[in-house]
Amino acid sequence: MRRDLTRLAEGRLDLLVIGGGIHGAGIARDAAQRGLRVGLVERDDFGSGTSGRSTKLIHGGLRYLEQRRIFQVRAALRERAVLLRIAPHLVRPLPFLLPIYADDPHSRAALRAGLWLYDRMGGRDGMPGHQFLDAPDAERVLPGIRMEGLRGAAMYHDAVTDDRRLTVLNLLAAADHGAILANHAEVESIRADQDGLLRVAIADRLHGGALEARARAIVNATGPWADRLAALADPDGAPRLRPSRGAHLALPRLTGETAVLFRSPDDGRVMLAVPWEGLTLIGTTETDDAEDPADVSPTDADIEYLLRGARHLLAGTPIADRDLLFAFAGLRPLLADGARHLSAATREARLVPSRAFGPRLLSVYGGKLTSYRDLARQAVDRIAKVAGMPTTGGCQTGAQPLPGGEVPGGDFLAFLSAAPRTAAARGLDARLVLSLATRHGGRLQAVLELAHAAPELMQRLCNHGPTLRAEVALAADGEMAVTLTDALLGRTGAAFRSCQALHCAPAAAAIMGARLGWDAARQEVEVARYRDRLRLERGARFVP
Ligand code: FAD
Repeated sequence: MRRDLTRLAEGRLDLLVIGGGIHGAGIARDAAQRGLRVGLVERDDFGSGTSGRSTKLIHGGLRYLEQRRIFQVRAALRERAVLLRIAPHLVRPLPFLLPIYADDPHSRAALRAGLWLYDRMGGRDGMPGHQFLDAPDAERVLPGIRMEGLRGAAMYHDAVTDDRRLTVLNLLAAADHGAILANHAEVESIRADQDGLLRVAIADRLHGGALEARARAIVNATGPWADRLAALADPDGAPRLRPSRGAHLALPRLTGETAVLFRSPDDGRVMLAVPWEGLTLIGTTETDDAEDPADVSPTDADIEYLLRGARHLLAGTPIADRDLLFAFAGLRPLLADGARHLSAATREARLVPSRAFGPRLLSVYGGKLTSYRDLARQAVDRIAKVAGMPTTGGCQTGAQPLPGGEVPGGDFLAFLSAAPRTAAARGLDARLVLSLATRHGGRLQAVLELAHAAPELMQRLCNHGPTLRAEVALAADGEMAVTLTDALLGRTGAAFRSCQALHCAPAAAAIMGARLGWDAARQEVEVARYRDRLRLERGARFVP
């Protein structure tokens, strides 16, 4: 996967996708697999918008059952099953504890019925069914849980992913099918020419300069930027978005390997504690926010709300202000549907044709990480039909594994258990190979080959997380990480450790520098930009 802006400007594209979040990535993969000539541009880095700021769940959404959105939940659970199959290294089952208190709004019978339905709708995707625990067992699963009024708990399963890597793997698959991709490339204008093609002006934010791409059709997959992008084609068009800010806190690990679904003491909203890379994420808030999506960050009120929730859940585990490692926020690109309360606004995705260019310019509104593949299928079906483009068959994305999703022997668990043998054969540390195999699945070989050529790459980047130096090299060589921030935030996830890779950033810059030709001065600039960027990404919420 190489950044190649000049190829974007050559010839005519069947489809230009604007926005490299999960929707754009999924659409590019689907369209390229069907044989269309596809381009995709992303103004910042892939997954840097809402798709990298989610709760990271691949789920039906138990809370949507409360709202009787049965069809939505069933469709999402079907997608969960597909993603567990095509990306076992990236989408993993996660146990959830749902504590039951005396003052809960739902009866135990209603909860039992809801969980039974959830299990049934999940189908045969290998997830264990739910069970009920008494209060002492609930405390054993979650030491420190508030015991006052605790009647017991339910345990059920959903799935968790790495949202940014899921986006990048879809793009890798798109590139494997010939899609031309560029990050740090921003669309600035759209117009139609006499041949009926759409002409798009693109600014190169990495090297400066501009170019023009020509496409038969465009999908605007810019998430919370969708109204702004649509206005480039139709300045008088009515806004359709109702952006909703959702914040998360990262705290040291508080809930073991189990996620927890609980209620806020402030307003009874459903909240989540999710184990993540050795930390616990607490989310989320839901607040109208019409600010520039590039500037979204958690407010003091968001942080207080989330901390109060965590302290209420874990009354027996003191959580000090200084435990807060970092916080981040994203904007849900919800479609304005007239709902009075944000929590009741629809999460469903909608494809909206432009007033100026009709269905040749489709905008994506709403949607969930979980159901991106289904949305992509609908978008490509419509584009292919409207533009009369012959495609090689229908959507194949549910049948073909994502990169790394296919492992030798075909059984992911057996592949993981073979990691010690793989390590021994190469004289490597078994734990390191196992952690690489878990993250990279069938791409393990590519990482090991890098390390074989340069054994020093088989070391950890720092002691705070599992990232290996080889993964930084892989990001630069084959995953289009063209800045240090792309590698640390968007490819390896090293920025999400307790240390946020602040100390090892120079070492990572040196690895990238050796591959991308950065001299010492450029490496320093990259490190400084990374540190600045973390402040923005995490909303300046460092606790000294
Ligand atoms: P984005 O990811 O925002 O992508 C749009 C991209 O377009 C951005 O990268 C942006 O830089 C780019 N762009 C903008 N303008 C231009 C331009 N002019 N030129 C080129 N590029 C441009 N869903 C789940 O299924 N599970 C969850 O657990 C979950 N949790 C969530 C928690 C929170 C707090 C939030 C906010 C959302 C959550 N969601 C979850 C929903 C899900 O994350 C989003 O619906 C999804 O990520 C939206 O993806 P997108 O591709 O539409 O938008």
